[in-house]
Amino acid sequence: MKRLHVTVWNEFIHERTAARPMEIYPRGIHAVLAEALREQLGGAVDVRTATLDQPEHGLSPDVLSQTDVLTWWGHAAHDRVSEAVVDRVHQRVLEGMGLLVLHSAHASKIFRRLMGTSCMLRWREAAEKERIWTIDPSHPIADGLEGEFFELPHTEMYGEFFDIPQPAEIIFLSWYEGGEVFRSGCTFRRGKGKIFYFGPGHETFPIYHDSRVRRIIANAARWAAPSGSPYFGEGRRIEPPLSPIAAKHEVDESLHRK
Ligand code: ZN
Repeated sequence: MKRLHVTVWNEFIHERTAARPMEIYPRGIHAVLAEALREQLGGAVDVRTATLDQPEHGLSPDVLSQTDVLTWWGHAAHDRVSEAVVDRVHQRVLEGMGLLVLHSAHASKIFRRLMGTSCMLRWREAAEKERIWTIDPSHPIADGLEGEFFELPHTEMYGEFFDIPQPAEIIFLSWYEGGEVFRSGCTFRRGKGKIFYFGPGHETFPIYHDSRVRRIIANAARWAAPSGSPYFGEGRRIEPPLSPIAAKHEVDESLHRK
C-alpha cells in the first residue's frame, strides 16, 4: 500500500485556555488525532501536525505539497485563519488533496468556501447521548465498525437543518437524546479532491479517545487520499482536432479570448 502523508491541523486554543479541554487533551487535540492515525494505520502513514500560531499556520506551500490528506479542527478562531492560507488549501483540494473537516470546523473558512453555503447548524451543549447510525455500511469509511450504530455517552448536539449542499454520500446519521437528528458523516467531491465532514469531536468530551471515532477518522484519511489518473484536462483550446474535420464554417477569431 502507498504511504499516506497526513497533516493534522488544529487551532489549539481551548486546550491552552480552558480547564476541561486541557485535562482531556493536554498536548492538544492535534496530538491525539495524530496518535489515533498512527495507532490505526501503523507504518502506512506519516503524520505531521500544524497549528494556527505557527508561521503561515504551519501550512506553507511545501507542507501542503507533501500532504495527501489534511484534517481540520477549529472553533474559536476561524476568522484568524489568513485568506492566503485558505486560498492555498482550497487550491490543493481542487488538485486532489483530501480534507477531513472535524466537528466545529463546519464553520471554518475553508469548508464554507468549498461548500458555497453557510454550513450553519443547530447546537446544544447538554452532555447528552449521541447514537451514530451507520447508514452506508459498505462504505470504506465504515470499515471495521461493528453493529448498526454506536453510542457516545456525552456529546454536544449538532442538529438539522445543516446548511450544506446535497452531500455525495451520507455515511453516518446521528440521533440525540434530546430528539434531534444530524447528517454527521458526509462526503463531497470538489475538483479532484475528496472531502469528509464528521460531526463528533466537541472539546469538553474525550471523543477523540474513542476507538470507533478513531477508526472512522483513520478510514476517512485512507479514503480521501489522492487517487485515479493524474490527468485533469485543464481547459484549453485544442487545435488541430485529434481527428481531421472537414471545414464547416469560417472562424471569427475576434470572438475568441486570446
Ligand atoms: Zn463543539
